[in-house]
Amino acid sequence: MHEVDQLLHVIFAERRKTGRLDLEAIEMAVRSAMHHAGGTALSELLQFSAPPAEQRRVACGCGHEAHYRELRSKPVVTAVGTVKVLRPYYLCPHCRAGQFPIDVELDIAGTELSPAVRRMQAVVGQQMPFDAGRQQMKLLAGLELTTKSVERTAEAIGEDIAAREQQEIQRAVQLDLPIIIGEPVPILYIEMDGTGVPVVQKETAGRQGKIQGQPAHTREVKLGCVFTQTGWDAEGYAIRDPDSTTYVGAIETAEEFGKRLYVEAWKRGWSRATKKVVLGDGAEWIWNLADQHFPGGIQIVDLFHARQHLWELARRLYPNDEVQQKRWMLVHQNLLDNGKMKKLTVALRSIRTDNPELADRLRLEADYFHRNALRMRYPKFRRQHLFVGSGVIEAGCKTVIASRLKQSGMFWTVRGANAIVALRCCELNGRFENYWEDRRVA
Ligand SMILES: [Zn+2]
Repeated sequence: MHEVDQLLHVIFAERRKTGRLDLEAIEMAVRSAMHHAGGTALSELLQFSAPPAEQRRVACGCGHEAHYRELRSKPVVTAVGTVKVLRPYYLCPHCRAGQFPIDVELDIAGTELSPAVRRMQAVVGQQMPFDAGRQQMKLLAGLELTTKSVERTAEAIGEDIAAREQQEIQRAVQLDLPIIIGEPVPILYIEMDGTGVPVVQKETAGRQGKIQGQPAHTREVKLGCVFTQTGWDAEGYAIRDPDSTTYVGAIETAEEFGKRLYVEAWKRGWSRATKKVVLGDGAEWIWNLADQHFPGGIQIVDLFHARQHLWELARRLYPNDEVQQKRWMLVHQNLLDNGKMKKLTVALRSIRTDNPELADRLRLEADYFHRNALRMRYPKFRRQHLFVGSGVIEAGCKTVIASRLKQSGMFWTVRGANAIVALRCCELNGRFENYWEDRRVA
């Protein structure tokens, strides 16, 4: 603390001379001096000595014993700046593997970043572009790190989270999941959706883009969320329980994603929910997963997507004639909103046209409404005060995925994107603290 005293003396002497005090400059200088003093003190604590003669052997992973060789030093960036760690090094004469048991104890094995610094990097790295994260680290923590360092740490932690989740999923698939005892859940919702994330070229090799004949530039992240509802407002509209939403997501097949979402739903009380609801747009994979993993759930097609289907038809039926479009919509949206699916399907099938493309389209849309008729019983769902729109997952696609992974100039590898999605979901679900704790225990 001597350094800080000295610094303050200089500063206040300056004030007597000039009559001015720049508080921001002073506080930052004091922080820097305190870091420096703290780093010196911490370095002293981290000078380990050679083990006594009778403790110079430790177990090696190969089954033999590693022998103490010497003390070795490495720099480690900590919350108070770079410190030196001096600790015993052991080498196994059998397999030639070296080890630093103290690094394991200090949680700095294989890294020159302290646990506190890595945690900060993970927090900023899931929240914002890596370079913005680097700037935050400098401003908020007084630590100068590279952009690459923020990226590496955030992705490594995200990968670790994803790997643990995968273990959990595998266990859940092989064994019966334990029934989790807890408060009964009145209404549990599951929503899922897909959203494209821009990727580097090699990740789309051989994949078809959205435009025929063009290569894809994105890969689809499948995102799912689980939330609960206890009540509704004065007009009978559903109210989502505050802070009840958790997310899972990844670039992966529908089959893999189905297991992921199933485990999440289970954790959130699927087995003890009085009412279970699966909400999504018309995408086929969504309803396949709903049938396979969430039997007994009430399936609802997002009303706004369904209306969108009608709007597109209206535009094709009456191009450039908004008055006619609106008139047609008035009738047909009314059928949809009132759950008159049979009438709607019949109405669509009875439209005659000489345009073969439009005829095709009409048939497809009629099939869509017919196939999803049970999922469009909106008046019935409304009477039960259920949500009929998948707004929560659509908002999730923006806040969880787009705001972090779809900024201009970003191109991800599948591996990097999945790591950041896993890290971000973990943080948003309020589980990072637990993960960080468990990681040390394991
Ligand atoms: Zn060995």
